[in-house]
Amino acid sequence: MATDPLYQSYDVIIVGGAIMGSSVAWWLSQSPDFQGRMLVVERDPSYAQCSTAHTNSCLRQQFSEPLNVRISQFTAEFIKNLRANMGGDPRIEDLSIQNFGYLYLADTMPRADALCAAQAMQHKLGAGTRILTQDELAQAFPFYQLDDILLGSHGTRDEGYWDGGALFDWFRRKAIAAGVEYVAGEVEAITTARNKVGNVTLSSGRTLSCGHLVNAAGPRANLVARMAGLDIPVEPRKRFTWVVKAERPLDRELPLTIDPSGVHIRQDGPETYMVGARPDPDPAVAPDDFHMDHGLWEQHVWPIVATRIPQFDALKIVHEWAGHYAYNTLDQNAILGAHTAVDNFFFINGFSGHGLQQAPAMGRGLAELITTGTFQTLDLSPFGYDRITENRPFGEHAVI
Ligand SMILES: Cc1cc2nc3c(=O)[nH]c(=O)nc-3n(C[C@H](O)[C@H](O)[C@H](O)COP(=O)(O)OP(=O)(O)OC[C@H]3O[C@@H](n4cnc5c(N)ncnc54)[C@H](O)[C@@H]3O)c2cc1C
Repeated sequence: MATDPLYQSYDVIIVGGAIMGSSVAWWLSQSPDFQGRMLVVERDPSYAQCSTAHTNSCLRQQFSEPLNVRISQFTAEFIKNLRANMGGDPRIEDLSIQNFGYLYLADTMPRADALCAAQAMQHKLGAGTRILTQDELAQAFPFYQLDDILLGSHGTRDEGYWDGGALFDWFRRKAIAAGVEYVAGEVEAITTARNKVGNVTLSSGRTLSCGHLVNAAGPRANLVARMAGLDIPVEPRKRFTWVVKAERPLDRELPLTIDPSGVHIRQDGPETYMVGARPDPDPAVAPDDFHMDHGLWEQHVWPIVATRIPQFDALKIVHEWAGHYAYNTLDQNAILGAHTAVDNFFFINGFSGHGLQQAPAMGRGLAELITTGTFQTLDLSPFGYDRITENRPFGEHAVI
């Protein structure tokens, strides 16, 4: 990747070139309303540390807010028809969804009521979610220990693993093919004057001017915001993943099971399963701290897994990693759109645990906002920055 930008001035500079930055770049490059010059600046062109590289890459319809359901519905259609949606390039494969479904388990009446209410809303929107009683769960998935479980909510359509890495790759490659410039380097300073971003300084020392700045810096988003004297409640928080091989694999596909404890486990390969968990306590960490907490598996996660699925009493870890959520401490949902005062500084940040699946809709929305000043397709204004200053959380409760 080049390190020296070709021009001194850009209509749009995007800070961060992983899935969000590349989605915005691609959507803008396709917009008939946008003829400008675009630069993506990426501090780590290997993308080794970004959230996009550490993701579990699953898509779900089971949210409690209708807008998040609609976003996922758009994603499912977008990725299943990726070739046509990206202009018919024969090299692009449509992406399939390994449709094992998410299964949320409720062990209390309030949790059960919340799942039933969300299922009714999802059903109305056309999602394939079903509520299963304890007996029905036992029949469909006889391997669970269900003594403490009242019911579960299971997705039967467009829920499961998909190849988010392929989508990222095509957003980036097609954006570059459409003329978007990508450079390796770190944005180190942003100057504002009269409530506008003016200049952006890179680690190479080059100072560039821009018409719009897009903050797509993932867990480092607040470091970038602060360069412009702004602040968002987004911080890096560790999330651990283990891929395990079962001595006695299940005889059927395991849904992405969300245990009431928060530990989640899903099918990975034919005999392997992917387990995810957060630490407790769950502090903000340094953006380059990927240290694995080995004790967490032994002391906390494995006992929960083996209690819920007694057949998993013998599991061997084959792979493990720590990744970072860009954790929005207000409400664990996206911050999308312009700052209320510095109106050419755009956020696409704070996606916490469900950003990969939101990248197509969020990139499209931000491109609409930059080119026309309003959302043209899905109204994504509930994710606006104004809710941050007004301390008004977005009401999504299904966060993992
Ligand atoms: C363990 C784990 C599991 C997950 N599972 C799922 C899932 O199943 N489904 C789902 O939808 N989502 C999931 N997510 C969330 C999802 O991966 C993220 O929301 C998404 O990848 C965020 O993409 P991003 O482009 O915003 O951030 P990132 O991928 O972190 O990219 C930000 C980029 O900005 C660059 N950058 C930062 N600062 C600068 C700077 N100053 N100058 C230049 N470049 C800079 C970084 O180098 C990086 O490449 C998961 C996340 C984790 C960690």
